[in-house]
Amino acid sequence: MSQGWYPIVNNELCNSCGVCYDFCPHGVYKWNEEEGPAVAQPENCIHGCHGCENQCPSQAIRYYGDLPGKKIGGAFRLDI
Ligand code: SF4
Ligand code: SF4
Repeated sequence: MSQGWYPIVNNELCNSCGVCYDFCPHGVYKWNEEEGPAVAQPENCIHGCHGCENQCPSQAIRYYGDLPGKKIGGAFRLDI
C-alpha cells in the first residue's frame, strides 16, 4: 500500500448496487458477484477523494485515513 487513504465498505449497509464500482475511474474496486464491491487496488485511490462516498446511496463508504473523529458504525470490511 502506497498511501494512507482508501475506501472501506460497510457491508451491513451496502445494497450491492454497483455505483461505487462503476463510478471510480481509478480501478480501486473489483466486483465480487457474491459479496459486491471489494477494494482490490487501494493504492490507486486518490488521497482526499470522496467521490464514491458521495455517490453511494446507502452511505456505506468511509475511508481509511479519514476515520479518526468520524462516527462509524456496523461492520466495516477490508478486502485487502
Ligand atoms: S455504492 Fe454503496 S451501496 Fe452501492 S455497491 Fe457501492 S458501497 Fe454498496
Ligand atoms: S475515493 Fe475516489 S479514487 Fe478512491 S475509490 Fe472512491 S472514487 Fe475511486
